[in-house]
Amino acid sequence: MHVSRDTLGLIGNTPLVLLAGPSAAAGCEIWGKCEFANPGASVKDRAALWIVRDAEARGTLKPGGTIVEGTAGNTGIGLALVANALGYKTVIVMPETQSREKMDTLRALGAELVLVPAAPFSNPGHFVHTSRRLAEETPGAVWANQFDNIANRKAHIESTARELWDQLEGRIDGFTCSAGTGGTIAGVGLGLKAYDDDIRIALTDPHGAALFNYYAHGELRAEGSSVAEGIGQGRITANLEGAPIDTQYRISDAEGLHWVERLLADEGLCLGLSSGINVAGAVALGRALVAEGKGADARVATILCDTGFRYLSTLYNAEWLKAKGLPVFPWLAG
Ligand code: PMP
Repeated sequence: MHVSRDTLGLIGNTPLVLLAGPSAAAGCEIWGKCEFANPGASVKDRAALWIVRDAEARGTLKPGGTIVEGTAGNTGIGLALVANALGYKTVIVMPETQSREKMDTLRALGAELVLVPAAPFSNPGHFVHTSRRLAEETPGAVWANQFDNIANRKAHIESTARELWDQLEGRIDGFTCSAGTGGTIAGVGLGLKAYDDDIRIALTDPHGAALFNYYAHGELRAEGSSVAEGIGQGRITANLEGAPIDTQYRISDAEGLHWVERLLADEGLCLGLSSGINVAGAVALGRALVAEGKGADARVATILCDTGFRYLSTLYNAEWLKAKGLPVFPWLAG
């Protein structure tokens, strides 16, 4: 059992679970890393902790200092919790179009929220640029910069990859997940390849992101769209530079939702859509390995990124799903 003498020690060392339905569909073992078990209920707690520790080690973050980030989601939650545990303040910049729930959550955790009008990335008023400027203007503040700060992927090289290797006792054939900042896929990919270069690393991309075409055809080009939060990247972030991607899959929201539905209804796991998309990618990777002659004991791992409790007004809301033209889970259909 995992015992920790401090709360930050609760970040990482998450359980790994064999997923029955996905394994049956793939014809081999599909394992899910339970990142919803982190204190902030998502994979981003790891990046938050490593970014803050890196800033401390560099001497840019001093006692009582402020961490500024532009994010609407899980990174803000992770940063706010880590900051509380270490005596820092958090300022989160987000577009005013974000859901009420997210604003309420970040305020509840003690973060200071700065709302800006929604704007394209090329506009200096975009929330990411605003957060950088705010960090520069605020005495004693650092900018977390999760997209291009490689302390993010280092978290996954040093923790997630090592944990997967240990938990699967050094027998793992493939790993896949989607990319937001790219910290998880690049970090776990680099970390696992350092143990065994033959482990197949696959990017699982949602529609509306540019990375599938980049890795398949060398061209950053997005097609379609997705309602999945936290994933879908249009550029090669610093975290993605040099990521050892062997193959790539493009997964629709409908395929992702299928696994969100099955994992909840059949296996009692309530997850967000990026997890469902990751599982669909893992099934595709598992099938490919089986088709190449690997046996039913081939092992593919993926990331269960966050809890579905964060999406009660969206993914788990019949009206919202209908408005988006997405299938409604039967038990919500009324
Ligand atoms: N899923 C969710 C729900 C997320 O919030 C994130 C973080 N943006 C990801 C997946 C992707 O993680 P990463 O930023 O490491 O690519």
